[in-house]
Amino acid sequence: MSSRRVVVAGGGAAGFFAAITCAETAPDVEVTLLEKGPQFLSKVRISGGGRCNVTHACFEAREFAAHYPRGGQALIAPFKTFQASDTVAWFESRGVKLKTEKDGRMFPTTDTSQTILDCLLGAARAAGVKLVLNRGVERVVKRPEGGFELSLSDGELLACEGLLLATGGCRVPALGQLAVSLGHTLEPPVPSLFTFHLETPWVRGLAGVSVEAAEASVPGTGLRERGALLLTHWGLSGPVVLRLSAWGARELHGFNYRFPLRLNWLPHLGTEALAAELQSRRAAQPARLVVNTPLAPLTARLWEQLVLAAGIPGETRWADVSRAGRHALVQQLLRTELPVTGKSLNKDEFVTCGGVRLSEVNFKTMESRICPGLHFAGELLDIDGLTGGFNFQAAWTTGWLAGQAMAGEGPA
Ligand SMILES: Cc1cc2nc3c(=O)[nH]c(=O)nc-3n(C[C@H](O)[C@H](O)[C@H](O)COP(=O)(O)OP(=O)(O)OC[C@H]3O[C@@H](n4cnc5c(N)ncnc54)[C@H](O)[C@@H]3O)c2cc1C
Repeated sequence: MSSRRVVVAGGGAAGFFAAITCAETAPDVEVTLLEKGPQFLSKVRISGGGRCNVTHACFEAREFAAHYPRGGQALIAPFKTFQASDTVAWFESRGVKLKTEKDGRMFPTTDTSQTILDCLLGAARAAGVKLVLNRGVERVVKRPEGGFELSLSDGELLACEGLLLATGGCRVPALGQLAVSLGHTLEPPVPSLFTFHLETPWVRGLAGVSVEAAEASVPGTGLRERGALLLTHWGLSGPVVLRLSAWGARELHGFNYRFPLRLNWLPHLGTEALAAELQSRRAAQPARLVVNTPLAPLTARLWEQLVLAAGIPGETRWADVSRAGRHALVQQLLRTELPVTGKSLNKDEFVTCGGVRLSEVNFKTMESRICPGLHFAGELLDIDGLTGGFNFQAAWTTGWLAGQAMAGEGPA
């Protein structure tokens, strides 16, 4: 039996990856993984709509790191050691093939997260990781002789030489207390990757309509994104909104999620080009109703609502649109301003912005700079990515580095 014990707190993506890496690299180390809940890998199971978006098909460290509103800079070097192609190879060497979708997201070819779950559980068991459910770490004290003594939720005490905290995003600060009790600072947690709640009746009336390339911005901030926009029963969603929510997680929290949102429905057109287009329509089809002649690529229903919102009544013909009317329509098409009144959950993926301060962690080994022997991995850190597989990749990479280091073979 080994004289060295490593404990991993948290049975999620990061904890499993670290535990497997450590146990495979150093078979003589006793690796115990403690999960406080009744299930391992519960987020992996529900991730990506039940398909698990494992990573993203982007194989350059700097480019990959640009997808993290928090933590990108710190992740560049780790990605040079373990990046998306390593994740693909890791799973493939264990019999799991990944496929890439048009937008770069990578999923198991089986299209079910169960494949990833089975792979991680199988690899952990094969490597001899001791897997324990329903036992959480409640308190940690540093032992005078080195290492830690853990108080577990069932009242037991457990001593170990190495400890990895992979307890996931701390939605509330209390969930980061183990790190704080060992001297670490938590960047205040706020949600990231949410959708926008709007009361505007015409927007809600268009639920299901999508626009392939809209531009959304928040006046008075530097927040501006382009991409697909989806109108929903509660407001707005789609990649452009999720990106805005991620890059603006702190600012939008500061506004209590009540702020004006500006939408440009035709960002490929400038004001003058659009005004000229409307003028030529007026000349070419003077007798047709404005609401019935949508401007591509806008859908007929969306166009109609934008025309009405610009104050042009439904029975107006192009010939009767005044200069002021055309001006109002240009404004509406390029600068619709809508009041956001709150945020809603993005059921596909949400993460926590905030967590353990990155300057307190050595990103070569994921070891604490404050408390030797303590390591971190995954969403507990102040790292969060955009949707698309970036959050899991951060968990795989930091978990792998921590696992190597705890095995005693981490890069110097
Ligand atoms: C609905 C949803 C879908 C998602 N889909 C995707 C996706 O497709 N692709 C992607 O890249 N990202 C996705 N994400 C984000 C991704 O799931 C997380 O970023 C990732 O799971 C973080 O992994 P983790 O191991 O750090 O934390 P977690 O997966 O949260 O695991 C932490 C574990 O630690 C346990 N724990 C907590 N405290 C203790 C304690 N004191 N002692 C013992 N155990 C403890 C928790 O019970 C939990 O099981 C999704 C998130 C959600 C919510």
